[in-house]
Amino acid sequence: MDRMTATPARKVLLAAPRGYCAGVDRAVIAVEKALEQYGAPVYVRHEIVHNKYVVKTLEQKGAIFVDRTEEVPEGNIVMFSAHGVAPVVHEEAKRGKLATIDATCPLVTKVHKEAVRYAKDDYDILLIGHEGHEEVIGTSGEAPDHITIVDGPEDVAKVEVRDENKVVWLSQTTLSVDETMETVDALKGRFPNLLSPPSDDICYATQNRQTAVKQMGAEADLVIVVGSKNSSNSVRLVEVALGAGARDAHLVDYAEEIDETWLEGVSTVGVTSGASVPEILVEGVLEWLAQRGYEDVELVRAAEEHITFSLPKELRRDLRAEARAATEG
Ligand code: SF4
Repeated sequence: MDRMTATPARKVLLAAPRGYCAGVDRAVIAVEKALEQYGAPVYVRHEIVHNKYVVKTLEQKGAIFVDRTEEVPEGNIVMFSAHGVAPVVHEEAKRGKLATIDATCPLVTKVHKEAVRYAKDDYDILLIGHEGHEEVIGTSGEAPDHITIVDGPEDVAKVEVRDENKVVWLSQTTLSVDETMETVDALKGRFPNLLSPPSDDICYATQNRQTAVKQMGAEADLVIVVGSKNSSNSVRLVEVALGAGARDAHLVDYAEEIDETWLEGVSTVGVTSGASVPEILVEGVLEWLAQRGYEDVELVRAAEEHITFSLPKELRRDLRAEARAATEG
């Protein structure tokens, strides 16, 4: 065969870790267990995690997703999503005589607690995050009088604080690590005594998925990120892939959304998925690519993950009570 006209070898670089994080896994299992334990319907305030497929599957099993607590009929159970809620939402549930199950990811709760602590010490808190994102709404609701949202480096110039020597920054858990540090540097330029949080707010899962996509970005002609458009960490993965040197990168919910024209002149395709994406959707993408000659799959591993979180305490309590009753019966 003429070497000049031979088709270049086609391969897939598959990121690891990818997909479900411990917080999403726990939240999805919590809805399933609640449906088994209490029967349908179980109301969930907002999408339990930002993924279309997951939401649709849980709806088919009997979950009802609502935008506002007031939509849940009195006496029912409402579950709060992994993104967390402001204290005012707990009060709304109490007023509506609703039983609650709080599936807020423990790593989001950690940021809530930091906000409460710094507000108690009367700090001005600069919360780096996306205005309007559920997690940011929930965290700022912990201390609305002390928190200012900083939505990227371009917001830094307009930040106002009461005392330049008593300012701390916190962040949303699912941001781009590099962009956040850019914002922090710009904030430090304005407030040299800016305090940093005691530990990373951007969670381990977000960081690991970004590191893996960076490793593959330089080598991949095209990166396909499986995830929904309202999933912050998935959208960040597309940006990180492009920043790392990928020629092209796209976010898709399902394999069917991939456009054949993206493959023109592409020999290496990177594949990853956001923290709210079940593996079955990645398998669909790999199959779609294999049917087009991208059968060779190479793993790009950035980290090992072994973190798991126990189920929300309300569920654990009821599951324990049921197990006890079964033994005594
Ligand atoms: S992405 Fe991070 S903070 Fe969000 S649910 Fe997963 S582990 Fe928790």
